Amino acid sequence: MGTVPRNRPESEGYDESRLGFGRIFTDRMLTIQYSAEKGGWQPPEIKPLEKLILHPATLVLHYGQEVFEGLKAFAGPKEDDILLFRPDMNIARFNKSCRRMCIPAIDPGLFMEQMSLLIRKDRDWIPRAPGTSLYVRPTIFAVDPFLGVAVGKEYIFYIILSPVGAYYPEGFAPVKILVTDKYVRACRGGVGEAKTSGNYAASLLASEEAHAEGFTQVLWLNAVDKASIEEVGTSNIFFRIDNEIITPALEGTILPGVTRDSVIRLARDMGYKVTEGRITIDQVVEAAKSGALKEMFGSGTAAVVSPVSLFRYKGTDYTVADGKTGEVAAKLFDELTGMQTAARPDPYGWVVNIGK
Ligand SMILES: *Cc1c(COP(=O)(O)O)cnc(C)c1O
Repeated sequence: MGTVPRNRPESEGYDESRLGFGRIFTDRMLTIQYSAEKGGWQPPEIKPLEKLILHPATLVLHYGQEVFEGLKAFAGPKEDDILLFRPDMNIARFNKSCRRMCIPAIDPGLFMEQMSLLIRKDRDWIPRAPGTSLYVRPTIFAVDPFLGVAVGKEYIFYIILSPVGAYYPEGFAPVKILVTDKYVRACRGGVGEAKTSGNYAASLLASEEAHAEGFTQVLWLNAVDKASIEEVGTSNIFFRIDNEIITPALEGTILPGVTRDSVIRLARDMGYKVTEGRITIDQVVEAAKSGALKEMFGSGTAAVVSPVSLFRYKGTDYTVADGKTGEVAAKLFDELTGMQTAARPDPYGWVVNIGK
């Protein structure tokens, strides 16, 4: 404790209250190489953050064999606290994504141990201003220098850390979203439930077009029927219609969000009826027209809960309730962020303290 981080640009206006997302990195990185030829996983290394030098034929650059995760480490009330939120779920999802992408799974215990070690070494980087955290980005990809379409035999697994700012520095900012029936994100049998790079590349054009029309995110519909709802941007989606909370079921096309799972559990324990099932855009439009649509919000690690104020579907704009943040979204946000920073009790055992 107490040492000034080597690369932390204190003198150049480094300001915890204005961190933004994903441009500042800590001093170190963890790498674990995998080589089929050398018998699999090699010893983990924690070393100064450095550039990767890749052959131009590197498999991932051509055929996209890659998986990543995203979670946050929080400072807690005690000086030594380093709090992770349900990291076991991220690790399990990482391995599930790897299976889908023909990437070797990593031992969950090793993953947790090495990730914790890295975060502890760079603990001075964990920001303490309200709403801030240290974003943790595990990644794996195929590194073989080979131009054939094939499963890689060599991989690099690494974890990098990035201090990130409060998502809502000035309070909730409800977003406007565009329902697209032009592009689709995933279909059953595809890779929609894997956190793999191609899903994000495939979504860029839709979000660029949405941005150009003044929308923050795209709401994705089912690829086959263009009727049932899937997710919003890179978040899961929830609707409150009267007093029932509805979210699309996990059927292979959407990301099984850690936040989604936590929201379902919390909302049920708050006494709401929560349904995981099919919900169509027509139902949502009807509910918006009749006034039954009380809330609509996304869920994900970055924003935790992201209220939607308005959506456009087939050229018509629909305001969600009065366009302000709904009470359920606000309660869930407070509860989740409170738990994550140990400001509130955690009856679920979701928060893991890796500080010591
Ligand atoms: C990561 C992600 C989510 C949210 O998952 P969390 O575990 O809650 O962060 C939702 N949808 C997509 C497409 C994602 O990539």
